Amino acid sequence: MNEKTVYLSLGSNLGEREDRLAQALSALEREEVSVAARSSIYETEPQDIANQPWFLNMVVECRTRALPLQLMNLLLRIEREIGRVRHATLERGPRPIDLDILLFGNAVIAMPQLTVPHPRMLERRFVLEPLLEIAPNLRLPVTGQPLRAYLAATLDQQIRVKR
Ligand code: ADP
Ligand code: MG
Repeated sequence: MNEKTVYLSLGSNLGEREDRLAQALSALEREEVSVAARSSIYETEPQDIANQPWFLNMVVECRTRALPLQLMNLLLRIEREIGRVRHATLERGPRPIDLDILLFGNAVIAMPQLTVPHPRMLERRFVLEPLLEIAPNLRLPVTGQPLRAYLAATLDQQIRVKR
């Protein structure tokens, strides 16, 4: 009852990157965020700080009964569990795991702890490419703009399918 479809972005650029993604997927299932579709794993160039390892990124489509802030808190808990230590000065630096909410049904949310759609997703090839792989006809809430319209502007960012 009242299950929502949500799209999550998973990223890792520290340690055993594929293991971290797999750990995150099992943690989601354990917490009753069921994974309905998953993209390939992509190897992607870091966007905000150079001189750090390339990321592995993927996007998953999930079904959940959680409310948006409950889901956000759950993702932060899973990030901590998998070993992410947050340092103010390293906000955008290497991280074992980063879990973001891209879309939450058709909700538009502007709260201090949670902005949905994710404010930077439209500029990130490492988000758009895996997202469109599993949901090629997805549209933004409210405007109905197809997400595929945003991909062309990101093609200068280096990414490749890992597997
Ligand atoms: P980024 O993922 O953009 O590199 P961080 O993971 O360091 O940045 O930022 C996490 C913070 O951003 C969290 O404390 C969370 O409350 C906030 N946040 C706001 N909106 C979102 C969202 N849609 N998905 C994930 N985190 C979000
Ligand atoms: Mg994040």
